[in-house]
Amino acid sequence: MTILQAKKLCLRYGHHYAFKDLSFKLMDKDFLCIVGPNGSGKTTLLKCILGRIKPTSGTIILNNELKKHQIGYLPQNPIFKPAFPASVYEVVSMGVLNQTRLLSRYPKTKIESALKTLHVENLSHLQFSTLSGGQRQRVLLARALAASTNLLILDEPSNNLDYSSKQDFYNTLTELNDSMTIIMVTHDLDHHNLIGNKILSLNPKLPFFGSTNDYVRRIHD
Ligand code: ADP
Repeated sequence: MTILQAKKLCLRYGHHYAFKDLSFKLMDKDFLCIVGPNGSGKTTLLKCILGRIKPTSGTIILNNELKKHQIGYLPQNPIFKPAFPASVYEVVSMGVLNQTRLLSRYPKTKIESALKTLHVENLSHLQFSTLSGGQRQRVLLARALAASTNLLILDEPSNNLDYSSKQDFYNTLTELNDSMTIIMVTHDLDHHNLIGNKILSLNPKLPFFGSTNDYVRRIHD
């Protein structure tokens, strides 16, 4: 099943192209890593997929079943700054609150199941600000997961994580990928840290879309 298809996608800010002529297709349970240097358009592309920015030309089609509000998003600079006065439970519940208008339909089960999947249910009463970097990132992933169990979009989620928290986080993503599609922007793609089955490179010197194995072969040629 096709989850997302981009055809000749271009996005221009004024006279400057963030990206040009991007075409790629994602199937259900693909795990796509988007790579490229700073300023190559990675975050802009995520915003296009999320429907927050309209492409200048070209099309991006999301699977009909996958309505826009069913995308879980972990932005690069989440609004929850370290001093944000909220409990872990409240942070995760904010992932779903914008999906429901009535408090009576508050989706408690989605929140509890996301906390459980990310193994942070025992932290749910703690203040978010007191957590370690690795724990915070798991909580923010739970928040994204509470919003969607179909598609997760993550913008450089391993930034600022130490080596073992990063490995731990990647293992969790690999487990989640058994049942959902993941799109992740990363700077962190070396041979020790290969994750996912597909790669989209926005590097103008090495444009690429295809399998991770083909990408590795290409960069070693
Ligand atoms: P990346 O995520 O790969 O670092 P971005 O998508 O943030 O790249 O930015 C791509 C290009 O678009 C950069 O040159 C950036 O300066 C420019 N850009 C990003 N957002 C805006 C904006 N809101 N207005 C104008 N230019 C922007």
